[in-house]
Amino acid sequence: MAKKKEPVLIDGKVVSQKIKDEIKKEVADLIDKKDSSPHLAAVLVGDDPASQTYVAAKEKAAHSVGIISSTYRYPEDITENELLEVIEFLNNDDEIDGFIVQLPLPAHINEDHIISAIHPSKDVDGFTPVNIGNMVLNRPGYLPATPYGIMELLKAYKINTEGKHCVVVGRSNIVGRPVSILLSQKRNPGNATVTLCHSKTKNLKEITLSADILICAIGKPQFITGDMVKEGAVVIDVGIHRLGDDSAKKGYRLVGDVLFKDVYKKASFITPVPGGVGPMTIAMLLKNTLLAHKKEFYS
Ligand code: NAP
Repeated sequence: MAKKKEPVLIDGKVVSQKIKDEIKKEVADLIDKKDSSPHLAAVLVGDDPASQTYVAAKEKAAHSVGIISSTYRYPEDITENELLEVIEFLNNDDEIDGFIVQLPLPAHINEDHIISAIHPSKDVDGFTPVNIGNMVLNRPGYLPATPYGIMELLKAYKINTEGKHCVVVGRSNIVGRPVSILLSQKRNPGNATVTLCHSKTKNLKEITLSADILICAIGKPQFITGDMVKEGAVVIDVGIHRLGDDSAKKGYRLVGDVLFKDVYKKASFITPVPGGVGPMTIAMLLKNTLLAHKKEFYS
């Protein structure tokens, strides 16, 4: 019997670095032409360690490509009205091309109110109703960074999505639902037949087994096992979790929503965790910031 071909590892580090190198070059060209550097701001409320880490990583990545970054920090007890004033200030500050509000916000603040207050032209996270609407209607706008990164990975590895059955597991507003919309669009990558699954889906395994392309954004460590995946499927793992591991230096290792060692044997292409989708998210945020600076959009 012929030996099964090894799957291709989709290397998000390499693809994201290439995107960041292109951004860096474009920023340098802008400065040569006496334009200013793009400026990304982040709003950080409270002192959640994960949020602090994410914002620090975004700042570091921005600096690495020549994008100015500033972080506006507020205490946990800031009121919703005070935070809305901050948003209004950032909306009107011509020095700032785009900004993000790091989520989650404290429970007393309505995230929808805050996100909806961001001006769509500065919404480099692509979370506002206007940008989501533009994405649904296939119009120019800013795409949410993680789904944007997934589309770029598919493009970079020339994975044909046209006419394929694409199963997305997870329907969050920031990953699953937008990626399902993008893959169903009449464009490339796109033109797929998409099934969107969630916690109320019946016979999940039957559906995932029929996927040519399986996108996993579930938030449950190693949930997708080898017996749920069709031979030769493309598997994109969005999940990221710390799993206790005494043999690891840090006492934990990172895993995704996919049981990698199992699914690897079935897939034709697969993203590792870490080093797959993760690095793409920040690269696409920087890309959106550059577009915002140039008053351009993803189109
Ligand atoms: P989320 O908001 O928690 O959404 C999880 C989705 O999975 C929900 O739609 C949920 O269904 C569905 N789900 C949960 N259990 C299920 C089950 N047993 N069967 C089928 N569907 C099930 O998560 P998220 O924000 O999309 O994030 C997903 C994962 O990606 C997390 O691990 C997160 O850390 C990671 N993530 C990574 C990046 C990155 O840059 N790499 C970015 C964002 C998120 P219901 O809607 O019915 O509850």
